[in-house]
Amino acid sequence: MCGIVGYIGHKEAFPILIKGLKRLEYRGYDSAGVALLNKDLDLNVYKTKGKVKQLEAYCKGKDISGNIGIAHTRWATHGEPNDRNAHPHYSQSENLALIHNGIIENYLSIKKLLINEGYSFKSDTDTEVLVHLIEYVKNRYKLDLFDAVKRSLNFVVGAYAIGVIEKGNSDTLVAARKGSPLILGVGEGEFFLGSDATAIIEYTSNVIYLNDEEVAELRLGSSPKIRTLKDQEVNHEIKKIELALEDIEKGGYPHFMLKEIHEQPKSLEMCMNGRLNRELMEIKLSGITDNIERFRSAKRILITACGTSWHAGLIGKYLIEELCRIPVEVEVASELRYRYPVIEKDDILIPISQSGETADTLAAIELAKEQGAFIYGICNVVGSSIARATDSGTYTHAGPEIGVASTKAFTTQVAVLTMMALTLGKELGTISQERYKKTVQELSEITHKIEKILLLDKEIEKISTVFTYARNFMYLGRGYNYPVALEGALKLKEISYIHAEGYPAAEMKHGPIALIDDEMPIVVISPKVRIYDKVVSNVQEIKARKGKIIAIVNEGDVDVKKMADFCIEIPSTDECLTPLLTVIPLQILSYYIASIKGRDVDQPRNLAKSVTVE
Ligand code: GLU
Repeated sequence: MCGIVGYIGHKEAFPILIKGLKRLEYRGYDSAGVALLNKDLDLNVYKTKGKVKQLEAYCKGKDISGNIGIAHTRWATHGEPNDRNAHPHYSQSENLALIHNGIIENYLSIKKLLINEGYSFKSDTDTEVLVHLIEYVKNRYKLDLFDAVKRSLNFVVGAYAIGVIEKGNSDTLVAARKGSPLILGVGEGEFFLGSDATAIIEYTSNVIYLNDEEVAELRLGSSPKIRTLKDQEVNHEIKKIELALEDIEKGGYPHFMLKEIHEQPKSLEMCMNGRLNRELMEIKLSGITDNIERFRSAKRILITACGTSWHAGLIGKYLIEELCRIPVEVEVASELRYRYPVIEKDDILIPISQSGETADTLAAIELAKEQGAFIYGICNVVGSSIARATDSGTYTHAGPEIGVASTKAFTTQVAVLTMMALTLGKELGTISQERYKKTVQELSEITHKIEKILLLDKEIEKISTVFTYARNFMYLGRGYNYPVALEGALKLKEISYIHAEGYPAAEMKHGPIALIDDEMPIVVISPKVRIYDKVVSNVQEIKARKGKIIAIVNEGDVDVKKMADFCIEIPSTDECLTPLLTVIPLQILSYYIASIKGRDVDQPRNLAKSVTVE
């Protein structure tokens, strides 16, 4: 959460910073701001509540010149989203300006100390202590900016990615990170700073990934100087990022979310590329085969994640227990990290995260590591903190996901879990050769089936228009499709602000059935699988209470179709692969309900992507 961008070079910084902020806006959009050093080396800070567009309007007619600058788009943690709390923050003398992503946990004690030293605070943020502290340390110990930042951060507890610039100092930009993401872009005679690659990809694909507790000085004319907080010199190699510009643009779609929904056949192909061999009908997941002994001796697998990734994890449990016969527990990371879980050396922890930066998931990894577990990560962003913190793992290769509501990240996570379970089941001998071949064959056809479902876009849009009145929705599914019911409900509530709940269909009579009346839309996920008949009975129970049924059924369905008000027919597949198909119409349904209601689909209120705060 929060996006930060920085530039130092020979070009005008403002347009580069604004463009970078727009790319990072998915990370937060409570306020935006920019700090620039003009030709006279004055330090100008402009910031305002709202989105980057508002910042641009606010800057009209102001002095936005300068070849060095930093910028920020905020997702507020401390202090309400207003002009005052927007970043960058000035130091007391207004000689320094700073941007920050993260949370300073000991900000109150630092604040007290600084107030005693005569500092006064203009915002309610935790961030402001950083800029005053750096100034205080700089003056007191007569240090340059780099050393002052390095020394100051030794007093700081919490998570941060920061950028700092100084009045009168036109050739230095200082950055540092711990726990929040930050990359340095190395161009021709220029440097960039970004929360992720999307902010800088237009200018350079050469990057340095800073590690935790490292401070960098970007100075024109020399290569980046990087030292740890303990003052050790660090030499990072420059890495190439593989990201195409079109991957981060809307490409003619009105929203990133719709683009990403329609991209799923492609993202799943990328995910399975080099892993699923269609000639031999075989899956090769090197992360699993390279570590097969760890998996063979595992007594238990623990999956941890947050939000949509947690739903993928629940499907992972069904897959691994069915196909590999290893006990699996799934727990949200924010719970796992703060209880006293029993984790043993033979356990395997599978953290799942799109961004690879999710703070709670990272903390759960550290906890499990301390207790000796083997960590096998699933994430999308190459080189992310989770990718680096794990022992091994599998990338989902979904390409950048920019819409805040996750879609293609989910289906690729489920695909990775499926490939893992099939690889592992084969290696362990827990599935028959016949079942293996059949399921791999089905998986190889899954993207074509998704393409067919995507053709129902307009039909689902029509159904959506009927339900914009609803204030509550219920989603029901069983077995593999119970987590899909949870995911469908989450998609709807996060972008349309309609209250929605997902339930295992049979649980309905233990409470939620009381909510059903003739106004209540109920989405029933009922492909023709093992427990189809049971779901049919559940649908009957809803019908008897006059609920409005939207059913996801297989083509040619008869029983549910008779009772449902609306039916969305999808191709059939192996039961364990059904989530990859059933979730697609639910994504489309929530997209249209939200967009017809005029919601900001890509940037829903109060939310942001890449949850780097706990
Ligand atoms: N804690 C800072 C603030 O509220 C930064 C927030 C963030 O990185 O999400 O302004």
